[in-house]
Amino acid sequence: MSKVVIIGAGGVGSVVAQKCGQLPEVFTEIVLASRTKSKCDAIAELIGRPVVTEQVDADNVPELTALLKKHKPDLVINVALPYQDLHIMDACLEAGVNYLDTANYEPLDTAKFEYKWQWEYQERFKEKGLMALLGSGFDPGVTNVFTAYLNKHYFDEIQELNIIDVNGGDHGQPFATNFNPEINIREITAECRHWEDGKFVETPAMSEKQSFTCPEEVGTYNIYRMYHEELESLTLHFPTLKKAQFWMSFGDSYLKHLEVLQNVGMTRIDPVLFEGKEIVPIQFLKALLPDPGSLGPLTKGNTCIGCVVKGIKDGKELTKYVYNICSHEASYEEVKSQAISYTTGVPAMIGAKMMLEGKWAGSGVFNMEQMDPDPFMDDLNKYGLPWKAVTL
Ligand code: NDP
Repeated sequence: MSKVVIIGAGGVGSVVAQKCGQLPEVFTEIVLASRTKSKCDAIAELIGRPVVTEQVDADNVPELTALLKKHKPDLVINVALPYQDLHIMDACLEAGVNYLDTANYEPLDTAKFEYKWQWEYQERFKEKGLMALLGSGFDPGVTNVFTAYLNKHYFDEIQELNIIDVNGGDHGQPFATNFNPEINIREITAECRHWEDGKFVETPAMSEKQSFTCPEEVGTYNIYRMYHEELESLTLHFPTLKKAQFWMSFGDSYLKHLEVLQNVGMTRIDPVLFEGKEIVPIQFLKALLPDPGSLGPLTKGNTCIGCVVKGIKDGKELTKYVYNICSHEASYEEVKSQAISYTTGVPAMIGAKMMLEGKWAGSGVFNMEQMDPDPFMDDLNKYGLPWKAVTL
């Protein structure tokens, strides 16, 4: 018997709510709350059992605390935007509720991807005997668990990690992002950082690229090195890592559009004065771009996301690759979303299930790789994100 409050009725929220809806034996009661209640109601229609919907501004801590005290859930699944993370953690502490999210906190005015703000909640969650699980999406999320799984089962010491995120899908639009455009563009245009010999090394955004051939005929793509938040926690929790990098695929047309938008200032995150009113260019751009939710029926092809880990086993060098391939069309068929929302929403549901079943437990703030990877890996196979581990 357990009750969850899901916050955020966007692309990811829709998948999380539907996947939780498929498991009434774990998620006995579901409340879906967001800034716009009509979006929650539309998602609730897709779920074949009663779901309570609520309007809430998650940045208003007293309002959210009152909502949590009214519903008394066991867990909050935060799939609103990264800007809300700290406010939702504050409300969870006030109301005595466990917490899970899929993306680290970001201040609105600086595109920083750091866990420091959320790690500072460690003592407060510990004191209240509550658990906060950070980054339970695909990347971060599954990529952290993949690394922990390889570390646990195949290596005496892991030394190099390459996380490779390929989206081989095509939506036929000249320019669109697969999840919230503001968050997506902030991430891609940020300075690149990778881990090498005990420190993060900075390089210009998208300055390093290589070609990568995915398994199972997903195709060959250009992948670009960029910073991604899980590098911070993985290099902390696996100190034997000498090098850790994150790579993502982008098509030439996408990059050309992005370059032009950047050059004309449309990706700026600071306010500019326009006709006497302050606007933030990237927020205006978001309003013009296709809603990621509308790409679901249009997107064809697969994602292929995984971790290549090099290390030592019995004195010999070994390289293992663990990956998942997810079909955009199959995701749409099941939950009316493309694979980017699907690959984020399913791990959020599984992370929540781990906590509610007590398979993952503790007081304080945790990253995914600190937990036993095995039950999570089993559930990926059961609930829509099967994986394979191969030797390279
Ligand atoms: P969307 O923009 O589609 O949805 C965000 C939702 O949050 C919207 O429904 C929005 O409400 C709601 N929201 C925003 N602000 C508030 C607020 N103050 N109070 C209440 N609700 C609010 O984003 P996505 O679904 O694409 O992404 C959701 C999260 O998932 C993001 O944090 C993103 O970074 C993360 N993510 C993680 C990935 C991973 O692999 N780890 C991959 C992809 C995404 P409204 O619509 O009414 O404005």
